[in-house]
Amino acid sequence: MTTTVNPATGEVLARYTPMTRTEVDQAVTKAATAAAAWGGSAPAAAGAFAVGQAGASLAVRLQVLSRLAGQLRADSDRLASLITAEMGKPIAEAEGEIEKSALTADYYAANAEAILGDEQVEVQGAKAWVSYEPIGLVLAVMPWNFPVWQVLRFAIPTLAAGNGVLLKHSPNVTGSALELERLFVRAGFPEHLVTTLVIDEPEVPETIERLIEDDRIAAVTLTGSNRAGAAVGAAAGKASKRSVLELGGSDAFVVLADADVEAAAAAAVRARFTNSGQSCVCAKRFIVEAPIADEFLDHFILGVKALAVGDPTDRAVSLGPLARDDLRAALQKQVDDSVAAGAVLAAGGHSIDGPGYYFEPTVLTGTGPGMPAFDEETFGPLAAVAVAADAEEAITLANSTQYGLGLSVWTSTPDRGVEVARRITSGAAFINAVVASDPRLPFGGTKRSGYGRELSAAGIREFTNTRTYWVA
Ligand code: NAP
Repeated sequence: MTTTVNPATGEVLARYTPMTRTEVDQAVTKAATAAAAWGGSAPAAAGAFAVGQAGASLAVRLQVLSRLAGQLRADSDRLASLITAEMGKPIAEAEGEIEKSALTADYYAANAEAILGDEQVEVQGAKAWVSYEPIGLVLAVMPWNFPVWQVLRFAIPTLAAGNGVLLKHSPNVTGSALELERLFVRAGFPEHLVTTLVIDEPEVPETIERLIEDDRIAAVTLTGSNRAGAAVGAAAGKASKRSVLELGGSDAFVVLADADVEAAAAAAVRARFTNSGQSCVCAKRFIVEAPIADEFLDHFILGVKALAVGDPTDRAVSLGPLARDDLRAALQKQVDDSVAAGAVLAAGGHSIDGPGYYFEPTVLTGTGPGMPAFDEETFGPLAAVAVAADAEEAITLANSTQYGLGLSVWTSTPDRGVEVARRITSGAAFINAVVASDPRLPFGGTKRSGYGRELSAAGIREFTNTRTYWVA
């Protein structure tokens, strides 16, 4: 049985019966048939979307996508409440997640035609072009931290490109996962084009590996931990199938000596503590140049102590619980081990007694390589601060990680910020701004943060067949 629990109270929300192996197999057949009818990659089966064997035209697909944006906005209150109940983020952040998903549907509805249109290429003696064609059914293994956004930032472009989506979501957000399946149908997408699988947790690794090998599935994407990414990437390699991996991060937030320190500190609080610190692109390591380190810390700690921790349905609250008790225990161990290795607790540092999985907003100073808070991804309200003697040392420290997702540099001379950013490896660099995804720009990692891109033109093309035509 898959059980969902409200992390703000510890109370059981719902129980779901996992699918049997036969039910999973039947669901894959229906999903593959729906995908073929939608993208036109194979004959449409009886009862599938009535568009004929050529598949739905791009114009039809994009019309439905526009309706998805409206449906998301219409259902926002209900979806946001479900997200908050299942994983504990403050309700306004859950609403923001729905609106961002709707904006992404708007973006692709307006731009997918231009991105996916044939590209003519000048060649002698023939007509040649490149087209971006659907590949079929794509398996998506997703995490709980943005239960709707993580799925939709992949699913929206993938569906626009003419593919189908087979979703394996995290068990603690099973209600959201099933609600997403219904949402697509309400918006006008064909039945089974987006299919949610509910899989018994112990069977997940074996089932996902089997699905990746299955010829009815064309490719796989995973957003999650490095452990899960390694398993999925290996299986995709074995099956010679395309994969995108969006994995963990330990983003550096570099504050140079010429920065507006107060503004940087206020942004640092947002960058670390949004979603209770449970975002891959939350800033996790704060690397501050020595001349402004004390001033930065004063403002930062003041901001952290002002965070209102509590019931995430209360709009006055800015920090909810962690999503699961085991995540809280793992964070506590990272704090304790870092302190044992010499870090200094400047704020918080402990679980909060009582019902729910709350953890104090925490700041560790004096951190650096060799400490879990600096070396590992920390997925909760924990900021690791390190002081660098100068910009050179800040660059060295920022690069001292196995991860490379986002980077934020703060300085009053943006050109210098860009120069510094060029010397630090990451998938995105933000100068005087907090790292965030945006449908108009590619999103993804370097180093152990994964490979492939989501969003923008790059994201929609990940799951297309970039096909060459040559007509002599
Ligand atoms: P997780 O434990 O890796 O789970 C993610 C998904 O992978 C879940 O659906 C999980 O299913 C599945 N999974 C786990 N082990 C697997 C295996 N061996 N084979 C196939 N599937 C497997 O990660 P999480 O705790 O939910 O999410 C937090 C992590 O995601 C963090 O590291 C975070 O940085 C990362 N993340 C990255 C991005 C990005 O864009 N780069 C965005 C958000 C989150 P079960 O839970 O049922 O095992």
